[in-house]
Amino acid sequence: MIHQDIVLKLSGEILGKNSRTSIAPQYIHHYVTEIKAAYQLGTQIAIVIGGGNIWRGKQAAKLGMSKEAGDYMGLLATVMNGIALHHALQAVGLSAVLMTRLAIPAIGEPYYPTKAKEYLSQRKIVVLAGGTGEPGCTTDSAATLAAIELEVDICIKGTQVDGVYTQDPKQNPAARLYTTLSLKEAIKKQLEVMDRGALKMCIANQMNIHVYNATRPQELRKVLCGEKVGTLLY
Ligand code: UDP
Repeated sequence: MIHQDIVLKLSGEILGKNSRTSIAPQYIHHYVTEIKAAYQLGTQIAIVIGGGNIWRGKQAAKLGMSKEAGDYMGLLATVMNGIALHHALQAVGLSAVLMTRLAIPAIGEPYYPTKAKEYLSQRKIVVLAGGTGEPGCTTDSAATLAAIELEVDICIKGTQVDGVYTQDPKQNPAARLYTTLSLKEAIKKQLEVMDRGALKMCIANQMNIHVYNATRPQELRKVLCGEKVGTLLY
């Protein structure tokens, strides 16, 4: 195993993929299976969950709402996913804690890096919902921020594609997958990896990101074992 402790950013969008419900049981089950396998390798895991399956801030404009109000709805969507994931992890016997940056004490503990580190060292999985707690960014920024605060080895981002491509693979079948790529290069080439702010934060704090396909079984274990999957951004 090449990474002892990780922040794992999981896309919310996958949870509702091709499904009539926003949170489909088969995708929650898939995430839990992958996380359990990673946990059994001995990895300390903090998970930042997205909310795109339920709501994204940019949808607010169509309702005539401010972007800020829409972002808060998005933040609440991440909390809904967080509750579902936390419950599903516990249901398979994994010890997990739900922490939120957006304070909702009835649902999760307020997030403090020191407390989260303590849980991780006790072999608890930390589910971190409520993004950064602030409107105006995405859970990618929440994940990189948490990775830096928790001083983990790497931030691993699960998406629906195999990694970072030269162009959008859905639009251009000739797009090539990068195995490695510098964070600076990703910004320069304006590749859609993460928010620009999140990438800059990683450069400033020497935090690497590994992007992989979270829909594929066993893929997270492969990333953790150093097999050549996805894209490593350094
Ligand atoms: N969001 C926000 N601040 C944050 C994180 C998320 O305002 O720190 C809002 C934003 O509107 C975003 C939505 O929550 O569109 C859902 O998060 P995200 O798009 O990151 O979900 P994912 O694509 O990972 O499922």
